[in-house]
Amino acid sequence: MGEINVLSNDLINKIAAGEVIERPSSIVKELVENSIDAGATEITIEIENGGITYIKVSDNGKGIHEDDIEKAFMRHATSKIKNEQDLFKITSLGFRGEALASIAAISKVELTTKTKDVEYGVKVNIENGTIKNKSYSGATTGTSITVRDIFYNVPARLKFLKSPSREQSYITEIVENLALSNPQISFKYITNKKLVFVTKGDGNLKNVIYVIYGKNIYENLIEVNCSKETITLKGFIGNSKIEKNNRNYQSIFVNGRYIKNKTITAAIENAYKSMLSINKFPFFIINLFINPELIDVNVHPTKAEIKFSDEQKVFKEVYTCIKECIINKDYIPSFKLDN
Ligand code: ADP
Ligand code: MG
Repeated sequence: MGEINVLSNDLINKIAAGEVIERPSSIVKELVENSIDAGATEITIEIENGGITYIKVSDNGKGIHEDDIEKAFMRHATSKIKNEQDLFKITSLGFRGEALASIAAISKVELTTKTKDVEYGVKVNIENGTIKNKSYSGATTGTSITVRDIFYNVPARLKFLKSPSREQSYITEIVENLALSNPQISFKYITNKKLVFVTKGDGNLKNVIYVIYGKNIYENLIEVNCSKETITLKGFIGNSKIEKNNRNYQSIFVNGRYIKNKTITAAIENAYKSMLSINKFPFFIINLFINPELIDVNVHPTKAEIKFSDEQKVFKEVYTCIKECIINKDYIPSFKLDN
């Protein structure tokens, strides 16, 4: 007798979910990115117990048409790309059509949504990937998704979650970066029924930096607004008074997507060389804009990393921009200021 089993769809979904949904913060990221892609101008994120038992993301975006609800929870179903060419010029945050299917495979999901062309909202519950309890009710245009009991049906994964406070800190980092990369959207962040922060959504990045990092950083910023051959950089970097002990005060967004990237980090830190004390790190919130055809965002299931087709060039251009900004702003090294 042969020994190879073809796995059930349910099991396939749980395995695949593990690639996209590692912890509660992954769910928050995916849901908020969907809200952004839906054109929302107001997004509310509520979590309890570090997101392990409760996450709710509500938006005023375009909503999901009733006929699309079932598809939205299917794997590899997306409204954002159609064909292979689209894959090489991605402008939305999502495109793999995996998030909702993955989330629904490992938690209990409730969705309420309304598009502007209908009078009523639709509410469904999804358990083990199947839709139950569909009902209609009044609602405003937009979508609200509640996720309860993450990994309730995958005990092996549940065991690997950290304490609620640690899980909450991962979520906070994600929400902060989503707010920083979208100053035109008003974010409201609530943990355990307490309001943590609200951003105005007036398009002013400096105001978001104030809300998240406070007055001291706000008062010591240098604006970056610089274009080179292939990139445009916009954002803020700290002056010499802002020296940090770690890289927690650095964010890089490429075409609006929060990513980790060693090339850009190294380029910026090198531009600061000899300006900061040894073993200190600069503050920066940098948006890099580049032709989507010059990057590959499809190198990682969570899309946390990207590839540039010409890393060297990006390094050089980022380095030059930051260096110019620092020099133009009469950057005075801190040892002089302190005298
Ligand atoms: P992807 O974002 O990669 O397309 P998802 O699984 O995250 O895949 O979402 C599937 C589809 O559901 C999206 O393509 C979109 O059409 C719809 N959708 C999900 N969330 C929202 C939302 N908040 N508002 C409007 N549509 C949404
Ligand atoms: Mg998505």
